[in-house]
Amino acid sequence: MKSSLSSFNPYTSRVIDLGKGHFIGGGHFQTIAGPCSVEGNHIFEIASLLKSLGVSILRGGAFKPRTSPESFQGLGKEGLDLLACAGRENDMLTISEIMSERDIDLYRDIDILQVGARNCQNYSLLKALGKVDKPILLKRGMATTIDELIGCALYITQAGNERVILCERGIRTFEPRTRNTFDVSSIPLLHENCDFPIVADPSHATGLSSLVASCALAAMAAGADGIQIEVHENPQLAKSDKDQALTLGEFKNLMHDIESMHEFLIQN
Ligand code: PEP
Ligand code: MN
Repeated sequence: MKSSLSSFNPYTSRVIDLGKGHFIGGGHFQTIAGPCSVEGNHIFEIASLLKSLGVSILRGGAFKPRTSPESFQGLGKEGLDLLACAGRENDMLTISEIMSERDIDLYRDIDILQVGARNCQNYSLLKALGKVDKPILLKRGMATTIDELIGCALYITQAGNERVILCERGIRTFEPRTRNTFDVSSIPLLHENCDFPIVADPSHATGLSSLVASCALAAMAAGADGIQIEVHENPQLAKSDKDQALTLGEFKNLMHDIESMHEFLIQN
């Protein structure tokens, strides 16, 4: 029997070729996972566990946009090299945030470039990424409207790079209990107004590991083409974003739920 979801077809976005036989959008769903920051050799342990769970895209920050200059800034080039190596060893794609167009050459061995919330409207960075032959995951800024976000994506496409993926990662509101407010309605609204695939990041949207699974599943039900999740082998020791990181065990459970939700959505 068809459920009432039969009138709901969120999978209308363009298909983006991510490389190595992986796609996102137009019915291709991806789970992206990994630590907030690459901290060292832990990335190899995390990568192989994620790969065994069916994750194809490994995330890890190397150039970190931290609120305080006293906080861990990431391992820089060494972090990118570790991430690329862990990706290669496990036959996974890699994604990492790029903060400046001056660093583009350092990302040679990274498959997907992420523009973080703080740089969403950095138009010179966006134009430079329009000249790069890699997919770009563009995160919504903390106070970026839907129309502004679409405008940002167009800076990249009009400079020549059509492989843009948008990411809802929460917006800043008056609510202090969560790090941001997860704007789940942005997912169907973006689908109505553009054809870029949409990834949801419930880790940064909530800032609390206990809320990540429910918001990930809500994002899928709202039509997300992918989910990005922060995981750490020992969240309490993570050098950045420890409160929102899932343990590897928690992620394994979530992956099971993501698969069940995906089955449900494609069958109904
Ligand atoms: C991140 O993905 O590690 C990150 C810094 O996210 P955001 O730009 O959404 O804050
Ligand atoms: Mn983070």
